[in-house]
Amino acid sequence: MEEEECGLGKSCARSEPVAAAQPAGSPGETPAVTAESPELANYSSKCVFCRIAAHQDPGTELLHCENEDLVCFKDIKPAAPHHYLVVPKKHFENCRYLKKDHIELIENMVTVGKAILERNNFTDFANTRMGFHVSPFCSIAHLHLHVLAPADQLSFMSRLVYRVNSYWFITADYLIERLRT
Ligand SMILES: [Zn+2]
Ligand SMILES: [Zn+2]
Repeated sequence: MEEEECGLGKSCARSEPVAAAQPAGSPGETPAVTAESPELANYSSKCVFCRIAAHQDPGTELLHCENEDLVCFKDIKPAAPHHYLVVPKKHFENCRYLKKDHIELIENMVTVGKAILERNNFTDFANTRMGFHVSPFCSIAHLHLHVLAPADQLSFMSRLVYRVNSYWFITADYLIERLRT
């Protein structure tokens, strides 16, 4: 995966509106989490989020994060007044590589997402969208949680790109439920 060569930068949103043109399906139709999960190498120097997590990308300011397994930073192309990414330091290509064992990881990512919103004086969590892009609709192949708020201020295009439980975007709650079963 040489995603940085196509100039997408650190935002994974740029190529994703293409996905929005496709019809939405019910969440049950999204591909199942596969069992054979190559939990890839812990670090890939070619992966922009691995480099950020390892403090090797001076252009990205890491925000305070109370969980040492995760990092948090602003999305380079914000879709809402608050738009943060919570990223595990360990490299997972996307949420299809996650299993039951990873529920705690996802819950921790959500906790960090809420904490970062609180630190930025946003506490209306009912008006927050947190979720993951589903492969192949994500240009950065390193698991990341989008934290968007206020959800009711998303633009028309962003509503599509971050559409709840569509083919291309699933909420953290939905992913946790799916991993449980
Ligand atoms: Zn990575
Ligand atoms: Zn994404």
